[in-house]
Amino acid sequence: MNLTVRILIGMVAGLLVGTVFHVGFDADSAVYQFLVEELFDAGGKLFLASLKVMVVPLVLVSLVCGAASLGATGRIGALGGKTIGLYLLTTAMAVTLAIGVALIVSPGEGAAEPAVKVVYEAKQPPSIKDTLVDIFPTNPVMAMAEGKMLQIIVFALLLGVAISRAGAAGERVRSAFEAINDVLMALIRMLIQVAPYGVFFLMAKLFATVGFEEIGKLLAYFLTVAGTLVLHFALVYSALLVLLARVNPLTYFKKMREPMMVAFSTSSSGATLPVTLRTVERRVGVKNEVASFVIPLGATINMDGTAIMQGVATVFIAQFYGIDLTASQYLMVVVTATLASIGTAAVPGVGLVMLTMVLTQVGLPVEGIGLIIGVDRLLDMMRTAVNITGDGAVATIVARSEGQLDEAVFADPEAGRVID
Ligand code: ASP
Repeated sequence: MNLTVRILIGMVAGLLVGTVFHVGFDADSAVYQFLVEELFDAGGKLFLASLKVMVVPLVLVSLVCGAASLGATGRIGALGGKTIGLYLLTTAMAVTLAIGVALIVSPGEGAAEPAVKVVYEAKQPPSIKDTLVDIFPTNPVMAMAEGKMLQIIVFALLLGVAISRAGAAGERVRSAFEAINDVLMALIRMLIQVAPYGVFFLMAKLFATVGFEEIGKLLAYFLTVAGTLVLHFALVYSALLVLLARVNPLTYFKKMREPMMVAFSTSSSGATLPVTLRTVERRVGVKNEVASFVIPLGATINMDGTAIMQGVATVFIAQFYGIDLTASQYLMVVVTATLASIGTAAVPGVGLVMLTMVLTQVGLPVEGIGLIIGVDRLLDMMRTAVNITGDGAVATIVARSEGQLDEAVFADPEAGRVID
């Protein structure tokens, strides 16, 4: 059976089994404890570990290969500029759309009292100087051990460029890195095959713990975020893919189904990165030179889905407390939510913590987060799927503009498919 279908079955089965445990079993019962807390939890953690373990070696090796080829062409600066520009643009469009939709729908009027009193410390935006200095590693091994993605990216870029300039020695190192890259891709291919089971365990554990009943109380907010995520996906990405990449967006979305499902089940763009990178290179046809840079950078800084949640949440909280924001405050929300989503770590739930930064910037009470926390876990799944789809879309656009999109691969439905 087709892998995409198997992952989908794993997801739906996990959702159903989890819900059965949520409604039908006492959390203290022996069956619940053994199956949910032991078996499903362990299975999910193993799957997550198998994905996460790939991230650091993959980003390093793949980007060294990419930078080694790009270094010779001198295109790195142009590529970096376009990528960061597009990431900022798509995120700003996402927040603007979110604010617009939320102002029309007005989900915050008459919403229920906060269920939880939030004790988050309001996050202060880090200073620009610290942010920039922190991108440069002092010790590459430490950067890798701590998983500091931007530092790893900088180190890999430098190493790759040096390889392109080191003559025969550089050639030898490059072919070694290329061989390792092929081996790592084969490893990801192996791991994707267990995704249906991993996804099942993650979903079963999650839905045994979080039920759907919270959605009822926050239906308007939930639907506004979910609806805006779908709009951004269907309108903004499709338009950008048609206009800037001149490709059929439906083919793109179809090819991205596997990473989208993994992102949905793990709620982590970081953990999904190996699957996203493989798919964008081998199924969508973005050459390694572009994908190896654009995808890890995007998983780290580009979070359109997160920004959408933050935009809707800000309007929702303002409406709930009856505070009218001015046009310049909304502009402030667009800027801060864009920055906050850049600073959001690619793991579950951080988008909500970074929302404190947006709220304090416009003088809204941080306790407002207590209003929406109940459905955030579910929305996190959806926004993470949008986050990684945005990374792939930007990679496709940048690849097209750099002549690095393999149209034959893009058009071939079978390209890079994992068939068991
Ligand atoms: N879970 C999101 C991600 O990894 C981040 C967030 O919005 O909390 O992309």
